[in-house]
Amino acid sequence: MMLLRRGEFHAFEADGSPHVYLVPSAAVFRLDGASVAVLDALGTEDLSPETLSERLADRFPAPVVQETVHELMGAQAIRTVQAPVARPAAPGPRRRIPLTTLVLNVTSKCNLSCKYCYEYGEDRLVEPATKPRFMSEETARESVDFMFAEAGDAPKVHLTFFGGETLLNFKVLRFAMSYAKEKAAALGKEVDASLTTNATLLRDEIIDWMVEHNVGVTVSMDGAREQQDANRVFANGMGSYDSVIPRVKELLRRHRRRPIGARVTLTKGNLKVREIYQHLKHEVGFYEVGFAPVTTSWQRDYAIQDDGFEHMLQEFQALARDFLATSLEGRHHGFSNVRDTIEEIHKGVAKAYPCGAGLGLLGVATDGDVSLCHRFAGSDSHKLGTVRDGVDHARQDEYLRSHHIDNKTDCRTCWARSLCAGGCYHEAHTRYGSTAQPNLHYCEWIRRWSATCLEVYATLAARRPEFLRQFDA
Ligand code: SF4
Ligand code: SF4
Repeated sequence: MMLLRRGEFHAFEADGSPHVYLVPSAAVFRLDGASVAVLDALGTEDLSPETLSERLADRFPAPVVQETVHELMGAQAIRTVQAPVARPAAPGPRRRIPLTTLVLNVTSKCNLSCKYCYEYGEDRLVEPATKPRFMSEETARESVDFMFAEAGDAPKVHLTFFGGETLLNFKVLRFAMSYAKEKAAALGKEVDASLTTNATLLRDEIIDWMVEHNVGVTVSMDGAREQQDANRVFANGMGSYDSVIPRVKELLRRHRRRPIGARVTLTKGNLKVREIYQHLKHEVGFYEVGFAPVTTSWQRDYAIQDDGFEHMLQEFQALARDFLATSLEGRHHGFSNVRDTIEEIHKGVAKAYPCGAGLGLLGVATDGDVSLCHRFAGSDSHKLGTVRDGVDHARQDEYLRSHHIDNKTDCRTCWARSLCAGGCYHEAHTRYGSTAQPNLHYCEWIRRWSATCLEVYATLAARRPEFLRQFDA
């Protein structure tokens, strides 16, 4: 006899209606009364279709129940008991990386001494003294060649510059950009460039270059003077706010070709997310603002502890409510954390890996070593090859196999795994000494934040579906 069983989903309310987020397919469904009744009936026991129809006969005619069962099975919200649970297939051997983004660490040197910087913390991936601190033009050229070779047939590649402080090596950055454009033109491809900077070295000539080459810019900044100067200081301890702010304003005034964002590092003493957002978005004028908790060992005095995570979540949720209200009015809101997550939800992304590191994204160290991402650049133990000799595909295959979500036991039964997939490898390395470990220290936070984003998404889908069209491309 065929029995029906509930599938794996997260149930939630949005816009006054019940919804489910279906874990294997990463799809969101608004439920009607019959769907709720079917899922409730299957909540405690497996039932045959006939028994289910009998149980619900006083509320729904049998054809309605059958039709509902059919729809819910199609969405994998219910399944037959015999059917195996659909899991994303673990990757087989790969011959080439479908590279879409290459991050060049053009220097490991910085002119700030931010107190929480992973370059200096105990989590620093030890960089041998023999490695150059600045990338040379020759290595930049080899990196660009490597990027196009690894990108295969992709018509567009993303070249991202990172540091240290990226602009300390502007000469090589400018060279790499020109060479990449020249090579892209010869190959009939497009290259999209972006960089992250602390903004202390921005000058007119650099801003003009950014405008000319349509370079996307993210400024690392922690808020108003009080917040910025608490951690983002020069080597002599002087805060950087007064140095940064006129340069940022000039950048925002002149570089109108692309939206410019701020990226904020949150620490135990800097968790006023809404206040920071208000300053950076409305007083400084950034298009969007993204927040990330500091990556560090829990013993550090700036590490966010449990009560801090709770406070941060409340701040995020309040700002997400603002985002929703503003978006429903058809106006732009710049809280990029919620925007990025609802984009993933809309695209139905069921992640097998938390990010593109080692997959479509690779990082290049100053000496040309290729690693998982920019944060691992310079780490011999996370090296996948060099820009000269290419990637060691056997090593990459092994990395992908061991980091697949199916191999993270704790994540297998988590409803948020299609959105989280275990979290950042660098954070896992810092906390647990292994990139393969899921970041279990913030699971509860991730699940509650994912639930908030689902509510925002489903409310927008119901009341302003045109908002979501921007993610269709
Ligand atoms: S790390 Fe935690 S929240 Fe993320 S998928 Fe794994 S169990 Fe879920
Ligand atoms: S491993 Fe972490 S730092 Fe690196 S790309 Fe992924 S999320 Fe970003």
